Amino acid sequence: MTSSMRIILVGPPGAGKGTQAKRLVERLGIPHISTGDMLRAARAAGTELGVRAGELMDKGQLVPDEVVIGIVEERINQEDAKTGFVLDGFPRTLPQARALDAALLRNSQPLDAVVQIDVDDKVLEHRVTGRRSDKDGNIYHTEFNPPPTGLEVIQRKDDTAEAIKSRLEKYWSETSPIIPFYEKKGIIKKIDGLRQPDEVTYDIIAALS
Ligand code: ADP
Ligand code: ADP
Repeated sequence: MTSSMRIILVGPPGAGKGTQAKRLVERLGIPHISTGDMLRAARAAGTELGVRAGELMDKGQLVPDEVVIGIVEERINQEDAKTGFVLDGFPRTLPQARALDAALLRNSQPLDAVVQIDVDDKVLEHRVTGRRSDKDGNIYHTEFNPPPTGLEVIQRKDDTAEAIKSRLEKYWSETSPIIPFYEKKGIIKKIDGLRQPDEVTYDIIAALS
């Protein structure tokens, strides 16, 4: 498989986008671009943007389009993203999808695939409330992928049963309309995200080749 691939991962919160993105970037040698990670880093750094975004994130609301579009445009123009990237958590609205299209067109960098990870809403709350991560950003689950004993892990503030409700509502109202947008371009690959992580990776790689 060529490493010059531009891939988007789409799916509801807890679908496994971050887990799969990490595996794909290792295989393909292209950067992982996660708007959620970038916003959390801005928050940890205490920037004005990060603090404002953090308040919205904790409530399970989306950060305004112009903010995330600006962050992503800057990131995809960096040298290491010239040959490809795995976008995780962006685009999350139709205006974001259109802005990305325009930016990629300007750079003559067409998208190769939009991987849609399907997981039943019923299992997502359990996936998200059990999610933990370490300081290096490795993702664990208290039950499905327990962190090694002694490893210090944290739980995200928005990984609560309340916040997941509004995050799922946002997914269905704001994000799912991007799927027909990419279906029209013929680049959607649908993947069953209920399978084991290794099987999901296998299916994604097969769909990309
Ligand atoms: P997303 O980035 O889409 O929100 P994550 O990759 O962070 O999702 O996964 C959410 C939670 O579900 C994490 O705790 C992760 O360990 C777990 N998880 C990811 N993929 C699977 C899977 N295929 N089966 C079971 N649990 C999974
Ligand atoms: P998950 O992988 O569980 O869906 P993310 O880490 O991708 O969560 O995103 C966490 C939060 O960051 C979102 O609920 C939202 O508030 C904000 N966010 C991340 N990406 C975007 C985006 N593209 N547009 C708007 N808000 C975003």
